[in-house]
Amino acid sequence: MNLLIIGPQASGKGTQAENLIEKFGLAHVEMGGLLRRVSKEDSELGNKVREVINSGKLLSDELVVEILNQHLSSLGRLDNILFDGFPRVLSQAQYFEKFLEKKGKKLDAVIYLTLPREITFERLANRRTCGTCGKVFNLKTKPPKKEGVCDYCGGNLVVRSDETPEKIETRLNEFEAQTLPMVTYLKQKGLVEEIDGNRPIEIIFADISERLKKRGLVKNA
Ligand code: AMP
Repeated sequence: MNLLIIGPQASGKGTQAENLIEKFGLAHVEMGGLLRRVSKEDSELGNKVREVINSGKLLSDELVVEILNQHLSSLGRLDNILFDGFPRVLSQAQYFEKFLEKKGKKLDAVIYLTLPREITFERLANRRTCGTCGKVFNLKTKPPKKEGVCDYCGGNLVVRSDETPEKIETRLNEFEAQTLPMVTYLKQKGLVEEIDGNRPIEIIFADISERLKKRGLVKNA
């Protein structure tokens, strides 16, 4: 099965993505992470990607599609993938639909995590990200074992440069203006499972698993 996970910042998308890939053996294709890796390169492309990410705005479709295609060819398959962060706008969803169709593949379901705006701000104030491996922690709900240090790789935990209150505001506005129309489109196709993200992690994951089971996509929820 191929899944897409969508949600505003701090909706728990990364945590649920980790659960999904582990439980159902999916490959994780995470656009934000891929782009952040490119943004660290000291090249024209790296500088351009860094500049746009730091502004909180979205990159052009051409650029993300190019970076995605490179990654998918290195992955070597188009099955059992959890797409995360792509497609993110209507034009990308329409492109992606055709792209998969040409290869005889499709998207089987979309997990859409919802979260009230004020909770997003509250959660992000407590969020720390590993500057080395990108793993995400929350000082309240998922603290690192040692303050300021990543449990996984020992890297330093930092506040992401696009997670200041002003940047969060811009990104949430982008989400509402650009991603919600895509969600409406995918809903019309009957693909969307809307999940309340303002609940404990395990309850949300049980809900997601149950919905996938009801769709006949997994056996053991
Ligand atoms: P994320 O971590 O998913 O919020 O992604 C971080 C940043 O990468 C976004 O704020 C955008 O600037 C950029 N980005 C990620 N995915 C896409 C996409 N599908 N299309 C355009 N820009 C993207």
